[in-house]
Amino acid sequence: MKIGCHLSSSGGYLAMAQTAVSIGANVFQFFTRNPRGGAAKPIDKADVAAFLEYAEANGIGPILAHAPYTLNAAGDNTRVRDFAEMTMTDDLMRLELTPGAMYNFHPGSHVGQGSEKGIELISDMLKRIFDGFGKTPSTTVLLETMSGKGSEVGRNFEELREIIDRTGLPLGVCLDTCHIWDGGYDIVNDLDGVLEEFDRVVGLDRLMAIHTNDSMNVLGAHKDRHEKIGKGKIGLAAFERLVNHPKLKDKPFYLETPCDLQGYKQEIALLKGMQR
Ligand SMILES: [Zn+2]
Ligand SMILES: [Zn+2]
Repeated sequence: MKIGCHLSSSGGYLAMAQTAVSIGANVFQFFTRNPRGGAAKPIDKADVAAFLEYAEANGIGPILAHAPYTLNAAGDNTRVRDFAEMTMTDDLMRLELTPGAMYNFHPGSHVGQGSEKGIELISDMLKRIFDGFGKTPSTTVLLETMSGKGSEVGRNFEELREIIDRTGLPLGVCLDTCHIWDGGYDIVNDLDGVLEEFDRVVGLDRLMAIHTNDSMNVLGAHKDRHEKIGKGKIGLAAFERLVNHPKLKDKPFYLETPCDLQGYKQEIALLKGMQR
């Protein structure tokens, strides 16, 4: 089972991989820079080399880099959109040092311009970034499923499909259990139906990562408040079905619950213990 959690990147790549192993994880997620934005730390090439060797020896990966929350490709002014484009380009360049990584981002918020306009802005940005990259990035870029809070784009599977179609790029999707539950997809009572819908609209071959989070809110609340596994409205039984589902069991699971390391260690053991 590929399972891990979000980790602090403050100690570098090797430290993250060692922390992952110490809590029973074999994958992990991290922010490429301060989640509220700003400059990224310069990459320490010796750290990257040590990480790659350690990851290989310990079966770690794929690693999932998460873009800062402030990145909004669908913003209503060029300053915000240029920041998004610059940041993602820089992140993808840095990730070339760790080939085969995944890069997940929140598609954006259309801030009143309408979903169609938002989808157009996001798609155009992705095309420009890939066109300007000079080669195909070794990183797989993932669109995250959103809860539909505020004017978020990506609040349903159709909106993600439209971005994929407009770009024609080999994009993947990161499915966040809390977000889709809050977005109105009933993974508690009808996981099969939700996955069939995802397969029909997006395609399960595009599903690259599962953000495994319980939710503080009820189905369709459009809120996005993560809860510890089994302590929220999704509940333990639903997670047991999730990690054992034939269409999901080979996908990597990344926890983003409100836990410290000890808490993550327990949740990883809990979910591993559920797998039949
Ligand atoms: Zn996210
Ligand atoms: Zn998430």
